[in-house]
Amino acid sequence: MATKGTVNVQTENIFPLIKKFLYSDHEIFLRELVSNAIDATSKLKVLSTSGEFKGDLGDLKVEVILDKEAGTLTVKDRGIGMTEEEIEKYINQIAFSGAEEFVKKYEGKEGAEQIIGHFGLGFYSAFMVSKKVQIKTLSFKEGSQAVQWESDGTPEYEIKDIDKEDRGTEIVLHIADDSTEFLENNRIGDILNKYCKFLPVEIKFGTATVKQDDPSGEKDEEGNIKKIDVEVDNIINNPAPAWSKAPADLTDEEYMKFYRELYPMTMEDPLFHIHLNVDYPFNLTGILYFPRLKETMEVQKNKIQLYSNQVFITDSVEEIVPEFLTLLHGVIDSPDIPLNVSRSYLQADGNVKKISSHITKKVASKLNDMFKNDRKDFENKWDNLKVFVEYGMLTDDKFYDKAEKFTLVKNVKGEYATLEEYQEKIKAIQTDKDDKLVILYAHDQDAQHQFIKAAEDRGYDVLLMDSPLTPHYISKLESKLTNVSFARVDADTLDKLIKKDEEIPSKLSDEEKDKLKTVFEEVVDKDKFTVQMEDMSETEAPIVITQPEFMRRMQEQQRMGGGGMNMFGSFPEMYNLTVNANHPIIGAILRKQKDNKQKVAKQLTDLARLSQGMLKGEELTTFINRSVDLIK
Ligand code: ADP
Ligand code: MG
Repeated sequence: MATKGTVNVQTENIFPLIKKFLYSDHEIFLRELVSNAIDATSKLKVLSTSGEFKGDLGDLKVEVILDKEAGTLTVKDRGIGMTEEEIEKYINQIAFSGAEEFVKKYEGKEGAEQIIGHFGLGFYSAFMVSKKVQIKTLSFKEGSQAVQWESDGTPEYEIKDIDKEDRGTEIVLHIADDSTEFLENNRIGDILNKYCKFLPVEIKFGTATVKQDDPSGEKDEEGNIKKIDVEVDNIINNPAPAWSKAPADLTDEEYMKFYRELYPMTMEDPLFHIHLNVDYPFNLTGILYFPRLKETMEVQKNKIQLYSNQVFITDSVEEIVPEFLTLLHGVIDSPDIPLNVSRSYLQADGNVKKISSHITKKVASKLNDMFKNDRKDFENKWDNLKVFVEYGMLTDDKFYDKAEKFTLVKNVKGEYATLEEYQEKIKAIQTDKDDKLVILYAHDQDAQHQFIKAAEDRGYDVLLMDSPLTPHYISKLESKLTNVSFARVDADTLDKLIKKDEEIPSKLSDEEKDKLKTVFEEVVDKDKFTVQMEDMSETEAPIVITQPEFMRRMQEQQRMGGGGMNMFGSFPEMYNLTVNANHPIIGAILRKQKDNKQKVAKQLTDLARLSQGMLKGEELTTFINRSVDLIK
């Protein structure tokens, strides 16, 4: 005898609403149904260990069955099943979660926390893609009668007794005409792979053909046992992913293998990993991998995946972890992250904030351990790590405070030092007359070779800072470190970059210098070059072209879209052209005829520009012709 009834909902129109608005992604219905099947299975396991279920558990595999001809998709489990009363309670009275009730009752029992429950409207999300849904179920309770519940997407349902041998539940979806994509094998395979890849109970989806040794033992020409094709269950998930295990039970190789499982398309191995394992004040497990970031900050395709009890939730975790951590790869699994709330709510959530600061702390302390335990190895990894660390220091003050101790700088000779060590190292010689420590750096070892050489000749040390974040990073360091400033080697003459007390005596009079200045001003583009006369040592170059530090930083920050300087329009390219008044060749210009004065001045300026790669096109041709003339 069949009973008819009405699902207990406030509005008659809830089903169209479910269909339209419940999830933007309709595919999520499958996650909900499979996770219910897993829940029912996990519950049975709990009852079995507690002795409430005495029968044989048997094969507990969950099965997803596609029947394109019949137009159905079935999710079948061998879990606890439901009695008619339970259907009445858990299905007909929507919004009453049986999972919640179960977990409360069995709190503390082994496996009870594994019940997934509560993602959204759960079971009813089936109506997003179905014109009719049937539940065929037999409870594990002794002497139960199997029942079938059926509804066509209106609040009316029908329930009746059926014959069903096997314990557990089958949810049969009669796929709606506008949702036939869910009758495609590939589509379902993809969805299972996305959401169910690491669910804790084996899930079978069709069969797969594998090669196996011929049981008859027959051999081929080469003496190997012949292979035959065998049909086996196609298990789509790994029920015990690495992060669900204890770190002590895993080898480095297994961590790498799991990385490949997460990102099958990736060729390059990560540098190292962190296994997260927290149970207070919130639950969180996971594994974070450090990719090789190189000099560029290319967008990372391998996003961190967020799970809740091994159910995939999302791979946009921006709200859950600080932005710089999104450069990492891996998984985070926490049942304590609220899943069906708006993004802005998520950011304000206390648990989420705690999780975020915990992960930051963990990452910093892992790096610190590596630095302390094996400095050499840490240095070897540094070039691949620095973009990550610098980015973290720039965007997260808590991380900065921790990283300050282990962040490294590298000089052009390839020697590494911490910030503290480095300041100590150059203190004696790179302190200027105002007691400020001037850190010299180069961005491009080849392009700035001339300047690096000049600095080294004076006994100065030059850092190599070639990360895309350098302009921002050095501003940050200047604001944090006391009495330290950074200057790029080509920003000015060395005497000006690190001002010392001692004056270099002048070989020319002020009047002579003024005359020379005019000569040079006549041969250069005045909008681009500011000519200045300087008393340098004789051994320095006769002419040095530099770009003031401030100008260049503004340009760089503008290029990177930072600094908020756009209201000034774009920054013009401006250089200082410093003439070494003490250089013999410069003094000699004074004694030449007017025409020759200009010719030599032009030749010297062009040489300086050539060394900077600034001489191109027609100007370069003219320069070469003039050089040939001069040699003649
Ligand atoms: P939730 O999973 O959050 O409890 P659902 O709407 O997904 O919400 O499911 C409602 C309830 O229906 C479950 O808690 C469970 O009691 C029951 N249920 C759903 N699917 C099954 C199943 N495959 N086997 C046994 N019970 C089920
Ligand atoms: Mg559910």
